[in-house]
Amino acid sequence: MSIDWSAVRADFPLLRREVHGKPLVYLDSANTGQKPASVIETVDDFYRRHNANVSRAVHALGSEATEAYEAARGKLAAFANVRADDIVLCSGTTFAINLAAYSWALPRLKPGDSILLTRMEHHANIVPWQLVAERTGAKIKVAEINEDGTLDLVALHAAMTPDVKVLGVAHVSNVLGTINPVREICREARRRGIATVVDGSQAMPHMPVDIAAIGCDFYAFTGHKMCGPTGAGALWARREHLEAMPPFLGGGEMIKEVRFDGTVFNDPPHKFEAGTPNIAGQIGLGAATDYLAAIGMANIATREGELLAHATEDLSKIDGLRIIGTAPDKAAVISFLVEGAHAHDLATLLDLEGVAVRSGHHCAHPLMQFYGVPATCRASFAFYNTHEEVEAFVVALQKVRRLLG
Ligand code: PMP
Repeated sequence: MSIDWSAVRADFPLLRREVHGKPLVYLDSANTGQKPASVIETVDDFYRRHNANVSRAVHALGSEATEAYEAARGKLAAFANVRADDIVLCSGTTFAINLAAYSWALPRLKPGDSILLTRMEHHANIVPWQLVAERTGAKIKVAEINEDGTLDLVALHAAMTPDVKVLGVAHVSNVLGTINPVREICREARRRGIATVVDGSQAMPHMPVDIAAIGCDFYAFTGHKMCGPTGAGALWARREHLEAMPPFLGGGEMIKEVRFDGTVFNDPPHKFEAGTPNIAGQIGLGAATDYLAAIGMANIATREGELLAHATEDLSKIDGLRIIGTAPDKAAVISFLVEGAHAHDLATLLDLEGVAVRSGHHCAHPLMQFYGVPATCRASFAFYNTHEEVEAFVVALQKVRRLLG
């Protein structure tokens, strides 16, 4: 199917904006993605016409809200090829990984056990495990990476020793763009009885993701990077884990019956959804999956691959520019440094040219330590970017470099 990418871009109202008198070139989609009109309108329509709480009221609006909320769960499940009943709706990856860490790992781990993490994890897939390690006496082990930003798979498999009970691994690195072979990694872990927690934040927005085929135990993702509203995302988990896990938070919505001498919890996934959820956000995320599915994730991956190749080629011609993360299998993320220039100065001056890139540690301190740098600049692309924007970015960067001497 041939896609009219300029028509796709026109679906994103924000991309028509100017910044500092220049057309906006938004290259920060790994941080958060922009939203198509269909998502914005879905959220707007919910508040204008259907707003009510879910699972509580029998009146018409209550039923409409509940139906739309549950339909969103179904859409997410279909999008990722899993059962809707195994999807816990939550605020995003951070909550999702904390849920797996506190409800699944905390009651199971003990001194002598290890939690294996890769060098390239986001803090969201490090800090919850450190908190659990502190409370259980388990240790954190690190699987190292190669200089090009790929995982050292031999070392990773060798690190899967009998003490390792859980492995946290990013599907795609938010800094390097590396696409990790999570299917193979999860198969190796499973053979050794290690539970796998895959951070899918940067994969779901950019490529077809079939969670069932990956064969992990937990898969966490966040909706705001996949054209959805902020504060909406999910944790998928194997049914046996969801059945066995105690609730993470207690409150309304997650119970069947409450007495002062004991409470009967609801069935999963509702057991993990205490309190009033982000109803409009999840419904908006459902609309985002409709939008992405209509374009086709394989088409999106191809388009972004072309933008990545174009940007990589043009950046490589700039003297003194170093790209960090050169894995052969890579999502459209380019972390870079320019000799003699601080990443924050580059990002600040690029902003004055209308180009939005992120600078900093990207919530990945251990990865910065590996490369011996405090920060990088990161340009991250989405299918709604254009080849003209790639060129505008490179021109702006050359200008900024001259300004910085
Ligand atoms: N993991 C990765 C790889 C990410 O890129 C992000 C977002 N920067 C997160 C986790 C955290 O996602 P959220 O803040 O939406 O919970």
